[in-house]
This record gives sequence, C-alpha cells and structure tokens, in this order.
Amino acid sequence: MKVDGACSCGAIRIEAEADPEKTQVCHCTDCQTATGTAFRVSVPVPGASIKTTGQPAIYIKTTAESGKPRVQAFCGKCGSPVYSTTVGDGVQPSYTLRVGILRQRDAFTPRRQIWWRSARPWVTQLGSMPHVEMQT
Ligand SMILES: [Zn+2]
Ligand SMILES: [Zn+2]
Repeated sequence: MKVDGACSCGAIRIEAEADPEKTQVCHCTDCQTATGTAFRVSVPVPGASIKTTGQPAIYIKTTAESGKPRVQAFCGKCGSPVYSTTVGDGVQPSYTLRVGILRQRDAFTPRRQIWWRSARPWVTQLGSMPHVEMQT
C-alpha cells in the first residue's frame, strides 16, 4: 500500500510502497540505543518506491550488533529516525522505514520480532500492566 509520513518537525517527508505483512519489531541493543526506547518497529520497502523530501542526516553504524555496517537516516533538526539502508552510492535496493513516522501506522501491526535475545524482559508483560489514558 501507498504510505507517507514525516518526522516530528516536518523537515523530512517520505512516500513509499509498503507491505504491512512485512512489519517487524527489532529488539537489538542498537535499536534500543538509537531510538532511546525498548524496541523499534519497521517495515522494509523497495528503494525504487521511495520518495524523500528534505535531506535526512546520515549516521553509518559500523559496529552494529548484526556486524554489518548500516546507514541510519534521521532528521537533523528534530532527531526523528526515518529509515535505515545499506551503505553505497545512489538508490539502494531496500530501505527499512520507521513505522512510527507513517500516517498509515495503524495498518502496520508487527508480524514478527527479531533479536529476541536482547528484548527487555518486561515486553511480554505490557498487556497486563495498568492502562492509563494520559499521564498528568
Ligand atoms: Zn524533523
Ligand atoms: Zn535492531
């Protein structure tokens, strides 16, 4: 399906063609650090389908838990993670979009969880924790 989204401040906008069935949660420690939270929700999209407005800042993580260098793109102004991709010139074959920036995020329910060994031990208990509508 067609998706579009933007970072917190709107400086980076993105459009792509994404398959909700490919949505996944990553529990690796790199995702925990890079997001400042417990896990990351992403969906891979073909590079040919992606359209970006604005110039994302790039950080190349060379010591990822996976051992593979990875381009991490984020907004240089507000810091929202936008996507990750492979290292190289020009359009890459695949980009892994951050689901939280997509307007259609409701359609992207994760189908699998990767790097489970690094998962925070409490993630399985989220459903049984008290649900509070808003913190005041
Ligand atoms: Zn921004
Ligand atoms: Zn990860």
